[in-house]
Amino acid sequence: MQPVVDQELCIGCGNCAEICPEVFELQDDKSFVIGLDKCATCDCEGAVAGCPVSAIELR
Ligand code: SF4
Repeated sequence: MQPVVDQELCIGCGNCAEICPEVFELQDDKSFVIGLDKCATCDCEGAVAGCPVSAIELR
């Protein structure tokens, strides 16, 4: 499974980067996936659940 962020929906709250800093990074108030291969070692499902606007999808 790999996380994908919908940039249109992201409001830059930072929850995902706080939960999985190896996977998500905020740039200009948008979240970007910087560590696709790190998802296995962090809580990507927690990041999905913690996103207030459901902008993260695991594919
Ligand atoms: S938790 Fe959702 S809204 Fe917040 S920065 Fe991450 S992707 Fe964006």
